[in-house]
Amino acid sequence: MSANLPWLHDAKQQFAAQRRQGTLAHAMLLPLPEADGGVLLGQFMAALALCSSLVADVPCGHCKSCQLVNAGSHPDFHLLQADGNQIKVEQVRSLCQSLTNTAQQGAFG
Ligand SMILES: [Zn+2]
Repeated sequence: MSANLPWLHDAKQQFAAQRRQGTLAHAMLLPLPEADGGVLLGQFMAALALCSSLVADVPCGHCKSCQLVNAGSHPDFHLLQADGNQIKVEQVRSLCQSLTNTAQQGAFG
């Protein structure tokens, strides 16, 4: 999650600014292929949105939320990736089931 891809810099900065200003959208579509860092950008955005440090432009890495995200066990972090070339119905059903629960940790849940 910590790869530093220079072409993602502007998108990360824009997301951080929206977070600081309290203008984050409730959902975002990232039309960026995984090979170009699409998953990394999504993971960065999710980690920053969940981070308890409200002044950082990057996930602080030290708060409880960052530690849970880094450990892959944050209860409010859900990553849905295509299984092959498709996102399967069962994957979406499983995600929907998870999302019907309320936020466990994040301030933005
Ligand atoms: Zn943090």
